[in-house]
Amino acid sequence: MKHLIRYCLAILTLTAISQISFAQRQYGGFYTREKIQNLRNNCNKYDWAKELKNSVINNAKNFASKSDDEIWSLVPGQNTPRGIDVTLDRIAKGPKVLGCLKCGLDVLKFGNYPYEPEFEDKPWKLTCPSCKSVFPTNDFGKFYASALDERGQFDVTKGDKSLLFNTAHPDPSDPLHKYGVDDGYGFIDQNGRAHRFIGYYVWKKWDYISKGLADLAEAYLYTGDKMYARKAAIILDRIADVYPEMDWKPYADKGWYHSDGGRNMGKIHGSIWETQIITSFADSYDKIISGTVDNSELYSFLKKQSEKYKIGTKGTRALLMQNIDDGLLRTAYKAVLSTHIRGNQGMHQLTLATCAIALDSQPESNLWIDWVFAADGGNIPGLMISTFDRDGTSNEGAPGYTLMWGRLITQVAEKLQGYPAYTKHNIIKEFPQFNTTFLAAYRMAALGIAIPNMGDSGSTGTVSNSYADPKFIAKGYIFTKDPEFAKAAYISNKNSADKLGRDIFSKDPDAVSREIQKIAEPLGPRPEGGYLMSGFGLALLENGSGNSGVAIANNFGRTIMHAHPDLMNFDLLAFGKWLAPDHGYPEFATNIPSNRDWTGSTVSHNLVFVNEKPQKEIWGGHTRLFKQLKGFGVFEIDGQKAYPETKTYQRTMFLVDAESGENNSYVIDIFKVDGGKDHLYSFHGPPGEISTSGLNLTAQKTGTYAGENIEKGIAANGFPQGYSFFYNVKRDLSPASGFMIDWKTETGYRNTKADDNIHLRMHALSQANDVALADGDPPQNKAGNPKKLGYVLMHRKGENLNSTFISVFEPYRLNPFIKSVKRIDNGDESQIALQIEHTNGNIDHVLYNPESEKLMKLPNNVSMTGNIGFLRTKNNQLSKAVLVNGTALNSGVVNLKSEGQIKGKIVKMNKNPSGSGWVLVDQILPANASLIGEQLIISTNGERDATYTIKSVKREGKYTRIDCGPITFAMGLKNNPSADPKDPYSNYIYEFEEGAAFSIPTHIEWSSKK
Ligand SMILES: [Zn+2]
Ligand SMILES: [Zn+2]
Repeated sequence: MKHLIRYCLAILTLTAISQISFAQRQYGGFYTREKIQNLRNNCNKYDWAKELKNSVINNAKNFASKSDDEIWSLVPGQNTPRGIDVTLDRIAKGPKVLGCLKCGLDVLKFGNYPYEPEFEDKPWKLTCPSCKSVFPTNDFGKFYASALDERGQFDVTKGDKSLLFNTAHPDPSDPLHKYGVDDGYGFIDQNGRAHRFIGYYVWKKWDYISKGLADLAEAYLYTGDKMYARKAAIILDRIADVYPEMDWKPYADKGWYHSDGGRNMGKIHGSIWETQIITSFADSYDKIISGTVDNSELYSFLKKQSEKYKIGTKGTRALLMQNIDDGLLRTAYKAVLSTHIRGNQGMHQLTLATCAIALDSQPESNLWIDWVFAADGGNIPGLMISTFDRDGTSNEGAPGYTLMWGRLITQVAEKLQGYPAYTKHNIIKEFPQFNTTFLAAYRMAALGIAIPNMGDSGSTGTVSNSYADPKFIAKGYIFTKDPEFAKAAYISNKNSADKLGRDIFSKDPDAVSREIQKIAEPLGPRPEGGYLMSGFGLALLENGSGNSGVAIANNFGRTIMHAHPDLMNFDLLAFGKWLAPDHGYPEFATNIPSNRDWTGSTVSHNLVFVNEKPQKEIWGGHTRLFKQLKGFGVFEIDGQKAYPETKTYQRTMFLVDAESGENNSYVIDIFKVDGGKDHLYSFHGPPGEISTSGLNLTAQKTGTYAGENIEKGIAANGFPQGYSFFYNVKRDLSPASGFMIDWKTETGYRNTKADDNIHLRMHALSQANDVALADGDPPQNKAGNPKKLGYVLMHRKGENLNSTFISVFEPYRLNPFIKSVKRIDNGDESQIALQIEHTNGNIDHVLYNPESEKLMKLPNNVSMTGNIGFLRTKNNQLSKAVLVNGTALNSGVVNLKSEGQIKGKIVKMNKNPSGSGWVLVDQILPANASLIGEQLIISTNGERDATYTIKSVKREGKYTRIDCGPITFAMGLKNNPSADPKDPYSNYIYEFEEGAAFSIPTHIEWSSKK
């Protein structure tokens, strides 16, 4: 009998245990037993990990020192108002924003969110950073305590109204008795406008709670001390109590502001920032799950609370986990589906993946993750082709914004990789085209040092490559094991593998760093030479490297969203400075004249402004030619879609090594515009003094470029956008066809020193009706921005205008190296020949012939059948010759012969939306390495540039197979779902079609040194 009872008990216990372990997981889905053990072992083993542990403990000190009651009471409920601005109002009449109750608009110079509540020292108070006034004037903490309902939540109707007075003026007859008093819904001023001190405070308080919770969870992870887990669990349980009811809409309906993208949706926050706070809550929960086992102090506290308030039954681990699983995670899942949680692409996908893994309950978790990939859900596969491009950037043009998607999806990929229970999708393996995202910022950096300040990004002339984060690039190596990633991470990390790929959750946290070291060290420094990012839209030509090199960066990608309508704008990097700087981030990225008409419009950029109207916003331009050789580079971009009313809107630029010390190089710009009746070539150099030669300038006494009576900076009204921003106007009304302008970079501009003597010279070779010089101001509220920039405006007017603006730009220090620049062709606009004489006696001839099969003959016996020609004479001897896309270049001394441009048709393409981008072409091409790295330019009517870097070439029967690496040619889906089962790819839209013509630029070089 005894045995039988014992046996039965054993069965019962076993059943109970297995049920418990099924219902209640012992560890987080992501932070597994193994990961936590590794982390704690590493903290005992390595000094750096010990230091990390100390700082984690230090961060958690504040919340750890609070009592359990205090921590529990921190969490507000639905009826505690919140919003991100004290006075900004979507509904109220009158000014949109009022600023501080005391000092008014003065507070705005402290930024968009000027108040930083001091939660410990000044609870429920906001201090104005400008006038130091403190609001609200009443003791809101007392009022809040008096207004708690039976669930422990704030209810304004229950509050003790006698507490609503200005504590500095307690006498009811005092006129200031009610001044600045806020019951939660704002102090209402004499105009009926609300000043919502408490609303703003509560918005910030939620982030304060989220941070405190994250610190506690982290401290538990590092120490295993269950006190941290208890405090974190108390917060999470309380959040789970209130979260299902949370809804931002009632406050949005009052006209209050939050990050809801104008949709009035959200829960705690607006729907966009809701993604971040919920991701953080779920991640903290995942971290502390093992700390809730055998934590009796936690359960007795929760039991006590449940006896005090109407918040359901509490007091066991099962009840705790059920409350958080239901109240937080499952509520969040539903809110993602109903778009109450919805951010920029990537944000809500990350939120849901994090919640699913924290829930770690099958099949539920995997179904949630399925949603992340579903076409009617998070749609990662669809976004991979429709908003992503072959350079790893998304559908925005400014670096910060265009790189964001890749960073967020990388976090999703990392989460899923840390959760082996989900096997249906593997982002890295399934979408090999995604992996270029790890190199995107690295490739954008001209000379390895400066990412151009395109669109809403950086500031005027900022030289920075900070987006090229070596830690992020190292992730690409971890995912792909591709040595190219190891090399890029190593170079970006200042030629070191230190800390790269460090993973404290791994048994051997620096294993990746050692691997990178081994691979990258022997690969040497960053290679010299430019790069074409045809997907993102950036043509980089380079000569030299770092601060001693020269580069031009021409952006021809997206001009939508946070980009500017500045297709084919260029900037010039020399002596470590941007010498034709973009304005960068606007004064305010909103619809105000200084952004809409100026910084964020066409005419403030180095471009031709056509018909007095800005460019149309488009996906991007199309590459016609890209060739980077050592010391000689050229590209041609077609931007006609930006000005659909023109026949031609095209820019051809050269970067030529002058071979005269100090890494001197010069730039040639040929800008062709055919069509329209008004062409204005706008260019500005670095800030500083300007001198000219060949111009006869008369100052306009008053007004701006828009007119003598039109004031600086006013919104365009009856005059072209941006013209009122050009002031100090000087004009030459009958300019010569050649003139020169010299900018001397001012001391202080991005660390320019007094003795740097950096100049930029422009040799203009274009006939204009009038030429003006004018000043224009970049945004004045960004640190380090110059006060003004000096512009030159070459203006042509007439019916059916056909303009070719030709300019040579010469960056130099101390003394110029170009003596003269002349056009020596016969004046036929289509064929252009320049003679550039250097001060050292060298003479260059540069030939440009748009019809490469047509013979071009110069008076000096030079002839070319080809697209681009270059000849350098040193000491009366030919020293160098280059022919691009041509069959013959005859200098009289040297006769270069070549096969000419490779042309043909695409016979077949890989239509798979992921995998590799290969085509079969109808030509027999050299299957050696000669074409690797060259551009395959495919004709297309589509909006995207169909130009691809060649990775390999292989003969296949009468055809040649060209492989362009792990990219896809698919760029979207047709409207109807696929109807043709025989052709699974019939529903895709491609960047080009089979049968399209293609070309590959070729070149031949000759040097007397050989
Ligand atoms: Zn103030
Ligand atoms: Zn810009």
